[in-house]
Amino acid sequence: MSEQNPLDLPEGDPFGPHNLPYGVFSPAGSATDSAPGSAPGSAPADGHVAARDGRRVGVRLGSYVLDAGAAAAALGSPYVSLLAQPTLGPLLAAGRRTWSDVRRALTAWVTVPAHRDIVRPLLHPLSDVTLHLPFEVADYVDFYASEHHASNLGRMFRPDAPTPLTPNWKHLPIGYHGRSGTVVVSGTDVVRPAGQRKTPADTAPVFGPSTKLDIEAEVGFVVGAPSTLGTPVPLADFREHVFGLCLLNDWSARDLQAWEYVPLGPFLGKSFATSVSAWVTPLEALDAARVVPPARTEPLLPYLDDSAESVADEPGGYDLRITVSLNGHVISEPPFSTVYWTAAQQLAHMTVNGASLRTGDLYGSGTVSGPSPEQFGSLIELTWNGRDPLELPDGKRTFLEDGDVVTMTAWAPGPDGTRVGLGEVTGRIAPSGG
Ligand code: CA
Repeated sequence: MSEQNPLDLPEGDPFGPHNLPYGVFSPAGSATDSAPGSAPGSAPADGHVAARDGRRVGVRLGSYVLDAGAAAAALGSPYVSLLAQPTLGPLLAAGRRTWSDVRRALTAWVTVPAHRDIVRPLLHPLSDVTLHLPFEVADYVDFYASEHHASNLGRMFRPDAPTPLTPNWKHLPIGYHGRSGTVVVSGTDVVRPAGQRKTPADTAPVFGPSTKLDIEAEVGFVVGAPSTLGTPVPLADFREHVFGLCLLNDWSARDLQAWEYVPLGPFLGKSFATSVSAWVTPLEALDAARVVPPARTEPLLPYLDDSAESVADEPGGYDLRITVSLNGHVISEPPFSTVYWTAAQQLAHMTVNGASLRTGDLYGSGTVSGPSPEQFGSLIELTWNGRDPLELPDGKRTFLEDGDVVTMTAWAPGPDGTRVGLGEVTGRIAPSGG
């Protein structure tokens, strides 16, 4: 029986050689004794590292994953020490020039005919492997960068305010520090959190499982090269530090959040879990998707001003078309190109006080919502805080129920009319343990 060679991809495959996102996987038969989403073990910076459960850096090609370290070794590449690792950390830390060099080498490995016989046995069907959290998350920050999302929340919760946006919103990208230790890989169950809640009608707070468990459709940016404490990272240096992006679901317990957030912001209503896709798409794969962000309607301070000539030829927006599904039914299609603050502005703002970056820092864009209701990136917007339930083929929904599965996918325009697929992020709600 002849078998299709995975190096011969179908025309238009969104995970073709123009994409090549990175992940970490264990091949079939590895002694996997850790739960999906557990943090990779720390790895020495040099040489081959054999993780206990066989995890290794992989590069996605179609519905296969290439064992990148094994390919590097088989082809005599100098990048073995970066790729034969149980985590993306060493590659992330290597910096922009090396990222480009490694990507160029990988592209050759999967496209040059002379390499086919060597590379073919190093491709594993995705259906046979276990995918892991691809890097050790250092700090995790989440922003609030979509004007449509922030305006919707403002209309719901501050109906008497003169404008839906807070006075600072158009002047700085608002964010908060989240919990890096609970960032989990796609496919990890999310246990419904329990906590305190108190509605205005209640005389005292009550404790119990969240009754308003929600999603936030976001894009996560992954920092590779660190920065120096005390030295801000200017807008123009964004691509020197940020390696790539992933899809991110910032699970949110709205009832816990509403009671706890004044005056210091999100805490337990967010920190129980944040899911990311198993694949990190390098920014280099997304050059054709770069777009000018929405027009700025307030003058920006110089460190955030991306209309300046020095950065105007590096448009900061990305045209990512996100789809959110609940139990297999599409509930929203948020367009990332509508997000007001760019990832470069977020990075500049996050470091303008001298705070430094570490390899593995992750920052979320904030919920991506477009202008129209079918583009809202959270259930609180899609149902207007539960007032207007979604009508799904399997019943009505306001917030998430136990057993619900939420999946985000996305694609971006690629070179020459191709599409660049982003890895999905999915999670199922497990009953509260509390
Ligand atoms: Ca968020």
